[in-house]
Amino acid sequence: MNCDKHPEREGIASCIICGRIMCEECKLRLGGKNYCQSCADRIFRERSVEGPVDEGMGALKKLLITFILIIAFLVCLFYILYLVYLAPYYGSLQNVISILMEDPQRIIRFLSWRIGF
Ligand SMILES: [Zn+2]
Ligand SMILES: [Zn+2]
Repeated sequence: MNCDKHPEREGIASCIICGRIMCEECKLRLGGKNYCQSCADRIFRERSVEGPVDEGMGALKKLLITFILIIAFLVCLFYILYLVYLAPYYGSLQNVISILMEDPQRIIRFLSWRIGF
């Protein structure tokens, strides 16, 4: 049997879906199975219909990771600010946090005075 598309070429594989005979050039190997171009296109289109649900989950995960990274960054930034500016003046971190809970404006005013913005 020769290739369905290229009658002059020898067929070396057949599509597992439609059974079309394919030559080396026409053969598409996906997940260890042989497909013709049109069956592979159809599978790909069917998968991309389901795609947006997965992409939505991915986007949510990315958003969550970004959020966690921002929080981690802010915590690091706060800790650096604490070490550089607050520790010499307010002492322990517990003390700074309790002031932050009671009167955050005080820390913000102090920091803007020290950093100068
Ligand atoms: Zn096929
Ligand atoms: Zn061919």
